Amino acid sequence: MSVQRQQVVTNGRLNGHAETIVCINPGTGEQFAEVTMATAAQVAEARQEMAAAAQVWGHKSVAERVWIVRQLQALILAEMDELTAVINQDGGKSRQDALNELFVTVDSMNQYCHHAAKWLRPRRVSPGLQIFKRGWVERRPYGVVAVISPWNYPFILTMQPVVTALLAGNTVVVKPSEVTAATGVAMEKLFQRVPELAPFVRFVHGDGRVGAALVATRPDLIYVTGSVRTGRLITQAAAETLTPVITELGSKDPMIVLDDADLAAAARWGVWGAFYNAGQTCVAVERVYVLAAVYDQFVQAVLAEVARMKVGYSPDIDNRFDMGPLTFARQGEIVEAHLADAVAKGAKIMAGGGRNGYFMEPTVVVDVDHTMLLMQDETFGPILPIMKVADISEAVRLANDSYLGLGASVWGQDVARAERVAQRLETGSVNINDTVVHFAIPHLPFGGVKQSGNGRSHGEADLLQFTQTVSYAVGKPPLPFDIATMLRSPGNYHKSAAIMKLAFGTTPQQRLEPVAEFLQKNKGKVAAVGGITAVLLALSRLIRRS
Ligand code: NAD
Repeated sequence: MSVQRQQVVTNGRLNGHAETIVCINPGTGEQFAEVTMATAAQVAEARQEMAAAAQVWGHKSVAERVWIVRQLQALILAEMDELTAVINQDGGKSRQDALNELFVTVDSMNQYCHHAAKWLRPRRVSPGLQIFKRGWVERRPYGVVAVISPWNYPFILTMQPVVTALLAGNTVVVKPSEVTAATGVAMEKLFQRVPELAPFVRFVHGDGRVGAALVATRPDLIYVTGSVRTGRLITQAAAETLTPVITELGSKDPMIVLDDADLAAAARWGVWGAFYNAGQTCVAVERVYVLAAVYDQFVQAVLAEVARMKVGYSPDIDNRFDMGPLTFARQGEIVEAHLADAVAKGAKIMAGGGRNGYFMEPTVVVDVDHTMLLMQDETFGPILPIMKVADISEAVRLANDSYLGLGASVWGQDVARAERVAQRLETGSVNINDTVVHFAIPHLPFGGVKQSGNGRSHGEADLLQFTQTVSYAVGKPPLPFDIATMLRSPGNYHKSAAIMKLAFGTTPQQRLEPVAEFLQKNKGKVAAVGGITAVLLALSRLIRRS
């Protein structure tokens, strides 16, 4: 089937002219909506408006913000069928897969609403030697957060950072992906329908140029989920103004099958993890390393699983398709380039390999090695390359042979052994005996190492990354015997040095040195010295505990 490109941009340049994104269903090729792109002036206006609104939203109590976000949660639940219909039409994924996006979004929202007050509460900290001061730490919102999101999970990867930024007290300018622009509009409408929330979120629709225009408005914080290339471009642009950037980028997730793995389960859920959402998942299984002893059996089990898969598109809630179309024409080109490169270098296609428009067969490839693009760069499509390895050390070495590191999985029935293998992997998260699932657990921090990004979505770490830490040292003006006074007043070098050793000495001998020196200088005043020593030691113990 031949289909049109996902979007067509018309009418001249971004600046000053309204351009249009044409939304095309990748499952049918049908054009179903048009979305007007924001101009650079509108982007700047949205940012300005949100700066003013931040003064209001940021001063609401956490309890009030939670109460308002709960209304959005209720609305998502009430509108779930309409939302899954748009996501299905926009990206081609099944209604159930679309529902999974809503499920995980609402789960996180629910958890964050429950815990936000505790996570954002001001915290007391020890004042150390400054015993007349009280130290505490406050979490303040940044102000205006720019959220720039991708198309592969257009709902959750937009809603989650937006809601988290809001709960933390920020206002938000959102730039959803142009590839799934209709979902962007559907999300905008959700916010508009909660009157208490509507003034604090603005959507600007459009392609990368609108994203770049948003970055140029100098938001107080940028949160981008997307490719490594875009993460780099945004970070470079933001460096001009030292605007902080949180990046959630691509990956090349490995799966390791140990010799004691439950091979039927590894094949079933490995195949699922590779082909879910047509492989267009940042934590999809992108490469598999199998210990030689179980390699042949595992490959056979994978081929049996793939043979059962049904590929197709349906707008219906109930349908039997395991995998839908690719969402975006560019993905088809990348997938084919990776496959061609692998085959040219000696790889063998064991299943699939064909493509009809956006529909690609689930493809299994063996005889692969790390000279191939398929084993190096993110493919983001339905190809599962499998490689035989001699032992665990080789599996770990190859798994770590990547500039990316977002997720991974290890399969073995000796779970403790599998966990030890997991601890050797250079990645932000690992599943043992499952794939992808860690993303669905709202309290597990999720994010990358290496070039997969620096952010941590999920849980307390997620909420806190949308805040800045402000510290307070509170007390009356320094007293004459306050350590602050002593350290600032001339003539106290020896006293200060003695206190340093007593407080921070790393051996009892080093800590007692000042006492010995004092005794030496004050022979005959032993009684008084005993008392002073006791006080100093007690003080030193107190300090060490703080
Ligand atoms: P992309 O990088 O093409 O686009 C992401 C967003 O950035 C889009 O909204 C796009 O319009 C915008 N953009 C593009 N150029 C820009 C620029 N110069 N300035 C500002 N904004 C710009 O990514 P994509 O194709 O939409 O998404 C797929 C990628 O996202 C994959 O690499 C995938 O692994 C990654 N991803 C990562 C995670 C994660 O959590 N780490 C999750 C999902 C997807």
